[in-house]
Amino acid sequence: MATSMLLPFIQKVRIPTSGDKVYKEECVLCFDTPESENGLYICMSLFLGFCRKHVQAYFFKTSNSLFLHLKRFKREVEGTDVSTSNPTKLAIGLEGGFNVGGKKYEYEDHNSIVLLPEFHVISLPCPDLPESVQLSIGSILEIDAASIQEEADALAGTWDGMAREITKHAELNQLDNGVKIPPKDWQCQVCGLKENLWLNLTDGAIHCGRKYFNGQGGNNHAVEHYEKTKYPLVVKLGTITSEASDVYSYDEDNMVVDPYLPQHLAHFGINIKDLQKTDKSMVELEIDLNQRIGEWAIIQESGTKLVPLFGPGYTGLENLGNSCYLNSVMQVLFNIPDFVKCYYEKCDNIFNEFILDAPRNINVQMAKLAYGLWSGEYSNAPENAKDPKEPVPDNNLERAVDWIFSHAEEMEVDSPAATEVKAQFRDGAEKYKLVAFISHMGTSTVAGHYVCHIFKDGRWVIFNDNKVALSENPPKDLAYLYIYQRISVS
Ligand SMILES: [Zn+2]
Ligand SMILES: [Zn+2]
Repeated sequence: MATSMLLPFIQKVRIPTSGDKVYKEECVLCFDTPESENGLYICMSLFLGFCRKHVQAYFFKTSNSLFLHLKRFKREVEGTDVSTSNPTKLAIGLEGGFNVGGKKYEYEDHNSIVLLPEFHVISLPCPDLPESVQLSIGSILEIDAASIQEEADALAGTWDGMAREITKHAELNQLDNGVKIPPKDWQCQVCGLKENLWLNLTDGAIHCGRKYFNGQGGNNHAVEHYEKTKYPLVVKLGTITSEASDVYSYDEDNMVVDPYLPQHLAHFGINIKDLQKTDKSMVELEIDLNQRIGEWAIIQESGTKLVPLFGPGYTGLENLGNSCYLNSVMQVLFNIPDFVKCYYEKCDNIFNEFILDAPRNINVQMAKLAYGLWSGEYSNAPENAKDPKEPVPDNNLERAVDWIFSHAEEMEVDSPAATEVKAQFRDGAEKYKLVAFISHMGTSTVAGHYVCHIFKDGRWVIFNDNKVALSENPPKDLAYLYIYQRISVS
């Protein structure tokens, strides 16, 4: 009988409380979830979750044999849920952010108790189970997943493109210089520009904003004024309303909150209630840029029909809302041979050594990511997809601007000291080739979008979050971070 089989193991069963972290959304060693083919196994004593492959390693290490098995079936439902509202923040797939896909799904959960090592299954619900087991199951299913708890913990200090801190210059010393500002029709005191204007809250000076890399924006007169005067706070004219305004602190190098903004404006004769929003806020500008074509399109190669690539080393990473910068950096790091050797080739050893502390161990988390990127298990080719290893015809129509960087690929450093230094390199001579670069699009480094291009298997590949494709025109002249590799001498 089912229940008698469990008896020897019941001692170890625990009921999770709010102090426990329950890893029930993803294998702690890889990226399998309850939706994966074999579902997820949650240890009923330590609440760590594992895929079918890794649950065996865990059992051999701990002899914990009782698991709650979660298997979720996902079905697409007719009719799509396409939101037509404009995005109001820089996130993807979140409320107020950019809408993705817009498909609706229906879920069905099939849970059971599984006993290792034979994977003996007891279907649920099963009224014969001992009370402690029933309570443990109920609590594991009900409690918030560890990922949700951790997200809530992290939320206090989050940045989602909107969260701003109160400036340390709130007690601002404003000059009594008699300057009075009209409620509209402003212009830059230096160049006469009539938009993208910033009011300095110390002296009431009005100047234009920064010039963006793409030539838009202003002529840098506001920042030049700050460099001369060190008056730290400016507010963007045309964005001021009683609810929200763009206040920037040069000193703190960030968008900030000025809690006394109405008083600071009143000093220059402005009644905040008289103002109307006439110019774009920084977040709106950012979103505009993200949707604009131009360099944005070039960086993402969105004008060309890219051939998607699949398999080990060609796995994309989901954007979790502003995580594209991390995605790009991780793709590049995990393409460095030493990283692959250290974390992917040795991942089983790492998993085995630190399995009980998996969610908190940096080596395990790095190995988990390496496994996700290099196992190929999370990047399955649909039918008729290209084999990533298949050589590609070289349609090398380089644009003129590529000249410098295509030559930089064969960059040689020819210093007189070269012979002395030579012995220190274990992986080649002081001769380098470009192997990866990360590009950014947006008004500042803390916002916008990042993609990376990596040279692998003889051609350039673009990694744009979860999309991985053959690059047709790698925009080598538009990146902000370049990675070179020493060429091995043979
Ligand atoms: Zn796993
Ligand atoms: Zn100006």
